[in-house]
Amino acid sequence: MRDDNNPVVLLSGDQWHIVDDSRQSTLARCGQPIRQRRAHSRLKTIGLENLCPKCRVLVEDQ
Ligand SMILES: [Zn+2]
Repeated sequence: MRDDNNPVVLLSGDQWHIVDDSRQSTLARCGQPIRQRRAHSRLKTIGLENLCPKCRVLVEDQ
């Protein structure tokens, strides 16, 4: 189930990005290609301050 208040986030390189499908996404919501999948979690677990700045803007705009 999709939860826009607590989306799935994926660690690619050193940054967490929001993805719409944790297993099949090749692009983060901000447009950044996902090349590495080091971990996935939920936004509220990692904290907004650890999210990539572009993804953070998209969340805050909602
Ligand atoms: Zn991002």
